[in-house]
Amino acid sequence: MARYMGSACRLCRRENEKLFLKGDRCYSDKCAYERRSYPPGQHGQSRAKFSDYGIQLREKQKVKRIYGLLEKQFHLYFERADRQKGITGTNLLVILERRLDNIIYRMGFAPSRNQARQLVRHNHFVINGKKVNIPSIQVRVGDVIQIRESSQKVPPILESLETVARRGVPRWLELDKAGFRGIVKSFPMREDITTPINEQLIVELYSK
Ligand code: SF4
Repeated sequence: MARYMGSACRLCRRENEKLFLKGDRCYSDKCAYERRSYPPGQHGQSRAKFSDYGIQLREKQKVKRIYGLLEKQFHLYFERADRQKGITGTNLLVILERRLDNIIYRMGFAPSRNQARQLVRHNHFVINGKKVNIPSIQVRVGDVIQIRESSQKVPPILESLETVARRGVPRWLELDKAGFRGIVKSFPMREDITTPINEQLIVELYSK
């Protein structure tokens, strides 16, 4: 599937907030948003005023970018969330959080979702002992995600595990760092998803 191949930092500047797309660099003074916290382009520093629609659109773009998704896939997730019982916006976030690439990132096996996606595609993980190379797989409660023995010295994985304490592992996941594995203890509750997202704006956008 086609992906955005441009600068990740440009996306943060476009959304006017840090989206933490580049792992360790995001926490350092090399962060482009820390140095230039205004949108890219010739008119980036002029004050932009958004309509309600513009605000909703920006929120949707932001969430798509955080999880590294294209429009079509994101819309399919929204439709699935809308069909489920409960609050559509919360359902959407839980579906996004349940993606394998997100789980790998949240458990600390990769410094970013983008890197997690690559590591999954390169067959570095197993779920419940079975090989897996599809980043969009939805994990289930009780799933055990493990780094394959032959992959336990892969530099990005080791480096990410070294700095996992800084990011922390959400309480709905459990990391067994020494065992190179993690367990999905439950699905996240809304309050467990601390990324600043106003999902109601996305629901309003797609309800038009
Ligand atoms: Fe965004 Fe990270 Fe780049 Fe900073 S370093 S602008 S947080 S992707």
